[in-house]
Amino acid sequence: NATRRPLMAGNWKMNCNHLEANLLVQKLAASLTEKQLTEVETVVLPPFTALRTVQTVVDGDKLLIGYGAQDLSPHAAGAYTGDVSGPMLAKLGCSYVVVGHSERRAYHHEDDGAVNAKVKAALAHGLTPILCVGEGLDVREQGGHVAHCRDQLDGALQRLTAEQATSVVVAYEPVWAIGTGKTATPEDAQEVCAAVRERLAERYGQDTADQIRILYGGSVKASNVAAIMAKPDVDGALVGGASLDAEEFAQICRFP
Ligand code: PEP
Repeated sequence: NATRRPLMAGNWKMNCNHLEANLLVQKLAASLTEKQLTEVETVVLPPFTALRTVQTVVDGDKLLIGYGAQDLSPHAAGAYTGDVSGPMLAKLGCSYVVVGHSERRAYHHEDDGAVNAKVKAALAHGLTPILCVGEGLDVREQGGHVAHCRDQLDGALQRLTAEQATSVVVAYEPVWAIGTGKTATPEDAQEVCAAVRERLAERYGQDTADQIRILYGGSVKASNVAAIMAKPDVDGALVGGASLDAEEFAQICRFP
């Protein structure tokens, strides 16, 4: 869709110390032209411990690369040992934060209420939440994937205004395709991304739904990105494993 700027976001997960992060972001920048970085929004999502380093590289070299975190606390400050707040991320120049990744939902028992609180915290502090939804293999095999993603979307967006919703990015990530090498077909991705947009239109009106970017995530590689991006409701990709290789991620960002 011509009105929505494509977004490629690299989720580094728990990889790269700050020295490795320095190298990776510099290599990535060197592999992309200013024109490419203008056409396709390119974002990296390092671990918390590398954010300051990425900020220094991006600011120092005036790179057209955005960055953000992989999670945030629903609280702004206080006695929450081990957590990192929205204001802290905003102060580091983050523009994005992943919320509700399936790994957080599974390993940290984040439910829709927790995800909703984090979406609100991100928005309250000027961060764009990349809200992840997606079904497991059992749900997919029973044909419940669309309903499952719609329910997760509803849960995460509770009591949000249309204006707030405009500032959200949604990522459809089928859990069975994450880190497995098993990509959903472009048609599978389109089916759910279209259903997500339809639900957004029911909630906030078609104009708002048409502005919201919806990404696909799950074993996206340089070799399969073009076919996925050709689908009308897919506006970008959330890329895990392949984002750790600067040249491969640059190739993904050069998909057009
Ligand atoms: C992810 O975890 O967001 C992801 C899509 O991972 P991968 O690309 O490695 O499947």
